[in-house]
Amino acid sequence: IDGIFEETVPILEKIIDAGFEAYFVGGSVRDHLLNHEVNDVDIATSALPYEVKKIFNRTVDVGIEHGTVLVLYNNESYEITTFRTESTYKDFRRPDSVTFVRSLREDLRRRDFTMNAIAVDTKGHIFDPYQGMKDLKAGIIRAVGNPHERFQEDALRMMRAVRFAAQLNFEIEEETQISIAENASLLQNIAVERIQIEFEKLLISSWRSKGLQAMIDSQLFKYCPELEDKKEALYSLISDQISFENAESAWAFLLYNIDRYSSNQVFSPIHFLKKWKLSNKMIQNTLTLYQGLKKRAENQELNTWEIFNLGIEAALDVESLLAHLDQVPKHDQVNHIYENLPIHKKEELALTGYDLMKKTTKKPGKWMSEALDTALKAVVNGDVQNEKEAILQWLDTENKIPYIKD
Ligand code: ATP
Ligand code: MG
Repeated sequence: IDGIFEETVPILEKIIDAGFEAYFVGGSVRDHLLNHEVNDVDIATSALPYEVKKIFNRTVDVGIEHGTVLVLYNNESYEITTFRTESTYKDFRRPDSVTFVRSLREDLRRRDFTMNAIAVDTKGHIFDPYQGMKDLKAGIIRAVGNPHERFQEDALRMMRAVRFAAQLNFEIEEETQISIAENASLLQNIAVERIQIEFEKLLISSWRSKGLQAMIDSQLFKYCPELEDKKEALYSLISDQISFENAESAWAFLLYNIDRYSSNQVFSPIHFLKKWKLSNKMIQNTLTLYQGLKKRAENQELNTWEIFNLGIEAALDVESLLAHLDQVPKHDQVNHIYENLPIHKKEELALTGYDLMKKTTKKPGKWMSEALDTALKAVVNGDVQNEKEAILQWLDTENKIPYIKD
């Protein structure tokens, strides 16, 4: 017991002093045993939610119907979940109601994989009824109990299996993998948002090839949004060994490959991303990278105006993506162009709509925003100084504003 676990021991001891059991469980135990960084610990207890709330002064009901109470203690917050089983599964999804139990073993049995079903007490003693330690050491993802039953209870677990394979460079145990292949179609019952979270984690993992290969071998990809006939695009993400710097880059590269392999049909990137229910912001950022990548991949450089619009981070992300196509990124050149931009934000333009209004007799209207856009582009491209009078004069000579009063 050390690090974040050691710091959290007092919380567990308070629960134990009140007459209940408390353990570290789940992903935090797994990651700690793998020597990976752990940021949040999962705590499981025999105390019922209302009993947990009685023990601590400050708590928040974050998921009380699932048995989770957030405890605020010494400026930190801790999620504490009551031992539970998930007995009533409907429609191959997580149950909407849970049954609280007083036994740790029962709680561990409802967990997905043996490596996620290990508990540790305050002394560091390990409780491992499903031999998770052995699988963890061997790098094996194995369903707890009968894989068919487990995937039929909750089909999302199949996506979690391939995601863990990609994150941890683990092998999916044979029975478990066979069972994923047999139950793959049940993924259709799962909310897209939840599939998306797992798929995105897979895409940005160091061993995404492993996860994607498992998705193809089991046909799981066919039950993901818009991927049914996109096997070639997925293969191109398998053969490429470079990791993505962020999720937007991963999605953008996926779009690029889908576009490449859908030679006959029209492919709509925005439709694809919407089907995956990505947030609007994520869709915007991804499309921007995708368009930048498309242009750069055709060996066209991004011009000053494009780099200004992308912003430095996205422009550099586009360059990084070129490496996935065996093309040479030009980060230095992009940095150089960006540093030499006369202005870096729209707001820095030395002309406002108010300035324009003062200068003309024409009623305010669409012409104003058009004039401001033209001015912005001219300033960014260095056609005119970023100075109010200079811009107005330039707009006048270019006939971009109706009439300038003196
Ligand atoms: P991550 O590193 O993504 O947080 P995790 O394993 O911690 O991975 P969580 O969603 O945080 O995943 O869940 C915590 C624990 O709850 C898991 O380790 C597992 O024991 C259990 N769990 C989570 N989702 C499921 C599920 N769909 N079916 C069964 N058990 C689950
Ligand atoms: Mg977790």
